Amino acid sequence: MSVLAVVGTPGDRRVTMFADACARYGVREPAVVPWTSVLRGEEIRLEPGTLVRIDSPGEDAEADGLLRGPGEPSRVGGGARWHAAFTAGTARVREAVDRTPGAVLLADVGEIAVMFDKRLCHARLSTAGVPVPPALPGPIGGYAELRRRMDEARWGRVFVKPAHGSSASGVIALHSRGGRVKAVTSADLVSGRLYNSLRVRSYENESDLAAIVDLLAVDGLHVERWFPKASLDGHVIDLRVVVVDGTPTHAVVRVGRSPMTNLHLGGSRGDLGEVRAELGPEGWARALDVCARAAACFPGSLAVGVDLMIGVDWRSLAVAEVNAFGDLLPRLEGLPGSGAEGVDTYGAQVRAILARHAPAEIGNARGEGAIVAGGPVGRGEEEGASPSVSVSPYQGYVYAYPHKTSYRPLDPRPSLREVWAREPHTNLFLYLHIPFCEMRCGFCNLFTRTGAPEELVAAYLDALEHQARAVRDALDDPGFVTAAIGGGTPTYLSAAELTRMFDLTERIMGADLRAVPLSVETSPATATTDRLAVLAERGTTRISIGVQSFIDAEARAAVRPQRREEVEAALGAIREVGFEALNIDLIYGIDGQTETSWRYSLDAALAWKPEEIYLYPLYVRPLTGLGRRAHDWDDHRLALYRQGRDHLLAAGYEQVSMRMFRLPGSVGVAEYRCQSDGMVGLGCGARSYTSRLHYSYEYAVGAGQVRAIIDDYVRLAPEEFDVANVGFRLGEDERRRRHLIQSLLQAEGLDLTSYRERFGVEVMAGFREELERLAERGWLEGDALAAEEAAGAGWLRLTPEGLAHSDAIGPALFSGRVRELMAGYEER
Ligand code: SF4
Repeated sequence: MSVLAVVGTPGDRRVTMFADACARYGVREPAVVPWTSVLRGEEIRLEPGTLVRIDSPGEDAEADGLLRGPGEPSRVGGGARWHAAFTAGTARVREAVDRTPGAVLLADVGEIAVMFDKRLCHARLSTAGVPVPPALPGPIGGYAELRRRMDEARWGRVFVKPAHGSSASGVIALHSRGGRVKAVTSADLVSGRLYNSLRVRSYENESDLAAIVDLLAVDGLHVERWFPKASLDGHVIDLRVVVVDGTPTHAVVRVGRSPMTNLHLGGSRGDLGEVRAELGPEGWARALDVCARAAACFPGSLAVGVDLMIGVDWRSLAVAEVNAFGDLLPRLEGLPGSGAEGVDTYGAQVRAILARHAPAEIGNARGEGAIVAGGPVGRGEEEGASPSVSVSPYQGYVYAYPHKTSYRPLDPRPSLREVWAREPHTNLFLYLHIPFCEMRCGFCNLFTRTGAPEELVAAYLDALEHQARAVRDALDDPGFVTAAIGGGTPTYLSAAELTRMFDLTERIMGADLRAVPLSVETSPATATTDRLAVLAERGTTRISIGVQSFIDAEARAAVRPQRREEVEAALGAIREVGFEALNIDLIYGIDGQTETSWRYSLDAALAWKPEEIYLYPLYVRPLTGLGRRAHDWDDHRLALYRQGRDHLLAAGYEQVSMRMFRLPGSVGVAEYRCQSDGMVGLGCGARSYTSRLHYSYEYAVGAGQVRAIIDDYVRLAPEEFDVANVGFRLGEDERRRRHLIQSLLQAEGLDLTSYRERFGVEVMAGFREELERLAERGWLEGDALAAEEAAGAGWLRLTPEGLAHSDAIGPALFSGRVRELMAGYEER
């Protein structure tokens, strides 16, 4: 883990609370880069590899003076100067990060600047279709102009907001009726100057009001039509929802006696349960979705606070503002199902940072990606290290080569017809990607989003239909020999939606799914009888279910809250429907997991006699227990791996790869030769493979960006599906490398004869050095190298220990070019 630094005010609550959250997760206390020194233009020095968080200057008087110029801190105004100085400061931080090797800015300074300009923020939200109250077009030079514009728009009630800054400072709720005006504001007019007051006051004297508006107009105004807000027990309410990494994790109800509900103005926290009950489950889901969509307008920001207004009808919703530093909500725990249960807003952010910057992660979907941290393992961490030098066995799950982080925009974008022109159109693998899940598992960094509303699912299926048509046209008459539907969780779709998905695959793609092995992923909560019936009826032969652990507490620790009864019921339903093959995914390395509890989960899985079992190492390190020290955690995982492997082998399973175990003679499982067969991916998270080009849509890690990519995908015009967008072109060397990696990481190994037949050279010709290093470590079977040299025949195979180190061997075989591209990938 890199070091963290926070640009903030030393001793400020935001800084100390974030540092406390870091300590809870075992992360070194972040260094503080004082805002005052940034604003004075002093040199910003960062350690290489620092992850830099930008926080608010808080209420520091000195920083305030540097931002707004000299004057009393309690005065209102100076917003334009504040914004200019603040933006210049964040730009300096950006420059410092850019010139520090390996440093990463955990924020987007351009987005912060937009959030601190209510006019720009409103325009951005409105363009993205996020509900916002209508606004008067600017600029508005003063009170006279404001009144004239209100009359033209026939608006009797408006909110007048200073263009810059956050919170209620200077905001006026203005009501004009029959020639009379009344305003409510926290601004206090004293001797021709404006001051912030903690008390909300009313003005009915028009000349006072005009003076206030004229003073505020100097720094720019943003005027929105009044949005009548819902109330509870006679008090107006709205919500502050914190969205961390794209997921709404925390919500607080703000209650006020005036239209201003801000907590520092005497507003108080209300009862969220009551608000949820009034909204109903569907209304609550819509409210969270609006917040997530608002946050998705700022995909480079790790966390934002969305102020959501609920209308008096308890149906209409509108975003009042998006706050770059809206996360200061002490003692507030995460929403159930958000993945942030039991942690505050800062804890959720630290966890998101750890998840993004942990070395790698697990993945359970075949056609879409988990980030893989490659590294020049070679002889170990050091050049010339002896075989006894230990290398972490867990560097990255390489289930596809090259990883999507090495894909780049294709310019010009080739047509699919061109891409597939010289490729075989038979023996293809069809992969459909459904990027939706009912909740976000704590260990997941896959391309998926939670809480997708029905309309989005429908729009996604529309887009799949357009894409299927484009692919079918480009490939003329593709022949599929196997198919899979992954995610996400494909069974997030209802039975009717699944039916539509199968219809479009068969009707438009022309894929006869009943004639080929078809695998579908599911989850305990969504493996319902009606959905399973559709899957069976449409030819599904293999069902894969992510259980992870049969112990509820372990499932919770992995942030996949589920109950054992639910898991057993799902497995029972799957067996009852009667698919040819069942796969169960389990995870080892969970906080608190022991050899006994691991054995318990293995046996609970074996009780269902699944045709396949996948054992995944956990990749997001728990920072308690054995996870506190990376080395101990590696040893622990390796021990659990060996235990799991031996247990399954003793139960009659054969090992197919480090993760996969299969009952001999199983039918219904897909036999896809990914080394040489082509793959057609449908969906914005799926990739497609030809022999010379791997391509897909944009790739992202952060949930906010994932949402944005899905939203873009569903809005694509039908003709936009005729081209490949981002990708990686494989030359001869990369094709050989891919063949080597994909074969060697299987227990069966690499067939030397077929390698020579395919490429016309011996594998040693290109990879002697790498293979010798593996042999030195005892990771290649006995005399495989010698035999290969002598006869160029037989199989190149990993030893059991080599297989156990697959996640170190895979990344070690990456080419320099792929490593460079992966390292240069800007994480989103
Ligand atoms: S179900 Fe799978 S894809 Fe969905 S959040 Fe969990 S691990 Fe990720």
